[in-house]
Amino acid sequence: MMHPDQSPETRLSVSKSQAPFAIVLSCSDSRLPPEVIFDQGLGDLFVVRVAGNIVEPAGMGSIEYAVGHLGTPLIVVLGHQNCGAVSATLESLQHHTEPHGDVAALVTAITPAVPVAEQRPGDLLTNTIKANIEQSRDQIMQNKELKPALDSGKLKVVTGYYSLDDGTVSLT
Ligand SMILES: [Zn+2]
Repeated sequence: MMHPDQSPETRLSVSKSQAPFAIVLSCSDSRLPPEVIFDQGLGDLFVVRVAGNIVEPAGMGSIEYAVGHLGTPLIVVLGHQNCGAVSATLESLQHHTEPHGDVAALVTAITPAVPVAEQRPGDLLTNTIKANIEQSRDQIMQNKELKPALDSGKLKVVTGYYSLDDGTVSLT
Protein backbone atom coordinates (compact mmCIF):
# COMPACT_ATOMS: atom_id res chain seq x y z
CA MET A 1 0.00 0.00 0.00
CA MET A 2 1.68 3.21 -1.27
CA HIS A 3 -1.38 5.53 -1.06
CA PRO A 4 -0.52 7.36 -4.31
CA ASP A 5 -2.23 10.49 -5.65
CA GLN A 6 -3.72 11.59 -2.35
CA SER A 7 -1.68 14.75 -1.74
CA PRO A 8 -2.92 18.38 -1.95
CA GLU A 9 -0.75 18.68 -5.10
CA THR A 10 -2.64 15.84 -6.76
CA ARG A 11 -5.95 17.35 -5.72
CA LEU A 12 -4.99 20.63 -7.41
CA SER A 13 -3.66 18.91 -10.52
CA VAL A 14 -6.99 17.17 -11.14
CA SER A 15 -9.26 20.03 -10.08
CA LYS A 16 -9.88 21.26 -13.64
CA SER A 17 -10.16 17.94 -15.44
CA GLN A 18 -10.02 14.21 -14.90
CA ALA A 19 -8.70 11.30 -16.91
CA PRO A 20 -9.28 8.16 -14.84
CA PHE A 21 -7.56 5.11 -16.32
CA ALA A 22 -10.27 2.67 -15.27
CA ILE A 23 -13.98 2.50 -14.56
CA VAL A 24 -14.90 0.12 -11.75
CA LEU A 25 -18.42 -1.23 -11.38
CA SER A 26 -18.26 -2.70 -7.90
CA CYS A 27 -20.53 -3.98 -5.19
CA SER A 28 -21.39 -1.42 -2.48
CA ASP A 29 -20.02 -3.76 0.21
CA SER A 30 -18.06 -1.80 2.83
CA ARG A 31 -15.10 -4.16 2.55
CA LEU A 32 -14.58 -3.46 -1.13
CA PRO A 33 -13.81 0.23 -1.76
CA PRO A 34 -11.99 0.11 -5.13
CA GLU A 35 -9.62 3.01 -4.35
CA VAL A 36 -8.47 1.23 -1.21
CA ILE A 37 -8.12 -2.33 -2.50
CA PHE A 38 -6.38 -1.21 -5.73
CA ASP A 39 -4.36 1.43 -3.82
CA GLN A 40 -5.35 4.38 -6.02
CA GLY A 41 -5.95 8.05 -5.37
CA LEU A 42 -7.69 11.17 -6.64
CA GLY A 43 -8.49 11.12 -10.35
CA ASP A 44 -7.44 7.49 -10.88
CA LEU A 45 -10.67 5.50 -10.84
CA PHE A 46 -14.19 6.29 -12.03
CA VAL A 47 -16.30 4.23 -9.65
CA VAL A 48 -19.90 3.06 -9.97
CA ARG A 49 -21.15 1.20 -6.92
CA VAL A 50 -24.36 -0.69 -6.38
CA ALA A 51 -25.08 -3.78 -4.31
CA GLY A 52 -24.40 -6.90 -6.35
CA ASN A 53 -22.46 -4.90 -8.99
CA ILE A 54 -25.48 -5.08 -11.25
CA VAL A 55 -25.96 -3.09 -14.44
CA GLU A 56 -28.89 -0.67 -14.13
CA PRO A 57 -29.69 2.43 -16.20
CA ALA A 58 -28.12 5.16 -14.06
CA GLY A 59 -24.95 3.13 -13.58
CA MET A 60 -24.81 2.35 -17.28
CA GLY A 61 -25.21 6.05 -18.06
CA SER A 62 -22.31 6.81 -15.70
CA ILE A 63 -20.15 4.28 -17.55
CA GLU A 64 -21.17 5.75 -20.92
CA TYR A 65 -20.13 9.18 -19.64
CA ALA A 66 -16.68 8.01 -18.55
CA VAL A 67 -16.03 6.20 -21.81
CA GLY A 68 -17.48 8.88 -24.07
CA HIS A 69 -16.33 12.07 -22.34
CA LEU A 70 -13.31 11.08 -20.28
CA GLY A 71 -11.93 8.50 -22.72
CA THR A 72 -11.45 5.87 -20.03
CA PRO A 73 -10.13 2.71 -21.74
CA LEU A 74 -10.87 -0.02 -19.18
CA ILE A 75 -13.94 -1.26 -17.31
CA VAL A 76 -13.57 -3.65 -14.38
CA VAL A 77 -16.69 -5.40 -13.08
CA LEU A 78 -15.73 -6.17 -9.50
CA GLY A 79 -17.53 -8.74 -7.37
CA HIS A 80 -16.37 -10.38 -4.18
CA GLN A 81 -16.38 -13.36 -1.87
CA ASN A 82 -19.50 -13.74 0.32
CA CYS A 83 -21.55 -11.10 -1.53
CA GLY A 84 -24.68 -10.40 0.52
CA ALA A 85 -26.74 -9.33 -2.50
CA VAL A 86 -26.02 -12.64 -4.23
CA SER A 87 -26.67 -14.73 -1.12
CA ALA A 88 -29.96 -12.83 -0.59
CA THR A 89 -30.91 -13.74 -4.16
CA LEU A 90 -30.17 -17.43 -3.55
CA GLU A 91 -32.16 -17.37 -0.29
CA SER A 92 -35.10 -15.69 -1.96
CA LEU A 93 -35.16 -18.33 -4.70
CA GLN A 94 -34.61 -21.28 -2.37
CA HIS A 95 -37.29 -20.23 0.14
CA HIS A 96 -39.66 -18.72 -2.44
CA THR A 97 -39.79 -15.45 -0.51
CA GLU A 98 -40.27 -11.99 -1.93
CA PRO A 99 -37.58 -9.50 -0.94
CA HIS A 100 -38.80 -6.32 0.76
CA GLY A 101 -38.97 -2.98 -1.02
CA ASP A 102 -36.50 -2.09 -3.72
CA VAL A 103 -34.20 -4.95 -2.77
CA ALA A 104 -36.40 -6.82 -5.24
CA ALA A 105 -34.66 -4.92 -8.04
CA LEU A 106 -31.32 -6.39 -6.97
CA VAL A 107 -32.70 -9.92 -6.74
CA THR A 108 -34.39 -9.62 -10.13
CA ALA A 109 -31.14 -8.46 -11.73
CA ILE A 110 -28.99 -11.19 -10.14
CA THR A 111 -31.46 -14.08 -10.61
CA PRO A 112 -30.47 -15.00 -14.22
CA ALA A 113 -26.95 -15.81 -12.93
CA VAL A 114 -28.30 -18.62 -10.73
CA PRO A 115 -29.15 -21.23 -13.41
CA VAL A 116 -25.76 -20.53 -15.04
CA ALA A 117 -24.01 -21.16 -11.72
CA GLU A 118 -26.03 -24.31 -11.07
CA GLN A 119 -24.42 -25.89 -14.15
CA ARG A 120 -20.94 -25.47 -12.64
CA PRO A 121 -19.28 -27.76 -10.11
CA GLY A 122 -18.41 -26.40 -6.67
CA ASP A 123 -19.89 -23.92 -4.24
CA LEU A 124 -23.16 -22.42 -5.48
CA LEU A 125 -22.69 -19.01 -3.82
CA THR A 126 -19.19 -18.52 -5.23
CA ASN A 127 -20.28 -19.74 -8.65
CA THR A 128 -23.30 -17.40 -8.62
CA ILE A 129 -21.12 -14.45 -7.64
CA LYS A 130 -18.84 -15.22 -10.59
CA ALA A 131 -21.72 -15.82 -13.01
CA ASN A 132 -23.24 -12.52 -11.88
CA ILE A 133 -19.99 -10.64 -12.59
CA GLU A 134 -19.89 -12.22 -16.06
CA GLN A 135 -23.53 -11.28 -16.62
CA SER A 136 -22.79 -7.62 -15.84
CA ARG A 137 -19.75 -7.72 -18.15
CA ASP A 138 -21.88 -9.16 -20.97
CA GLN A 139 -24.56 -6.51 -20.48
CA ILE A 140 -21.94 -3.77 -20.68
CA MET A 141 -20.47 -5.31 -23.83
CA GLN A 142 -23.91 -5.33 -25.46
CA ASN A 143 -24.40 -1.60 -24.83
CA LYS A 144 -24.84 0.18 -28.17
CA GLU A 145 -23.24 3.44 -26.98
CA LEU A 146 -20.04 1.59 -26.14
CA LYS A 147 -19.94 -0.46 -29.35
CA PRO A 148 -17.64 1.88 -31.36
CA ALA A 149 -15.05 1.96 -28.56
CA LEU A 150 -15.30 -1.81 -28.04
CA ASP A 151 -15.08 -2.59 -31.77
CA SER A 152 -12.06 -0.34 -32.28
CA GLY A 153 -10.21 -1.83 -29.30
CA LYS A 154 -10.15 1.48 -27.42
CA LEU A 155 -12.19 -0.06 -24.63
CA LYS A 156 -11.71 -3.33 -22.78
CA VAL A 157 -14.01 -4.95 -20.21
CA VAL A 158 -12.68 -7.38 -17.62
CA THR A 159 -14.09 -9.06 -14.54
CA GLY A 160 -12.55 -9.20 -11.09
CA TYR A 161 -13.30 -11.43 -8.11
CA TYR A 162 -12.05 -10.06 -4.79
CA SER A 163 -11.13 -12.39 -1.96
CA LEU A 164 -12.05 -10.89 1.41
CA ASP A 165 -9.74 -13.43 3.05
CA ASP A 166 -6.49 -12.56 1.31
CA GLY A 167 -7.15 -9.17 -0.33
CA THR A 168 -6.34 -10.31 -3.88
CA VAL A 169 -8.36 -9.68 -7.04
CA SER A 170 -8.49 -12.38 -9.71
CA LEU A 171 -8.96 -10.66 -13.08
CA THR A 172 -10.38 -12.48 -16.10
ZN1 LIG B 1 -21.54 -7.68 -2.45
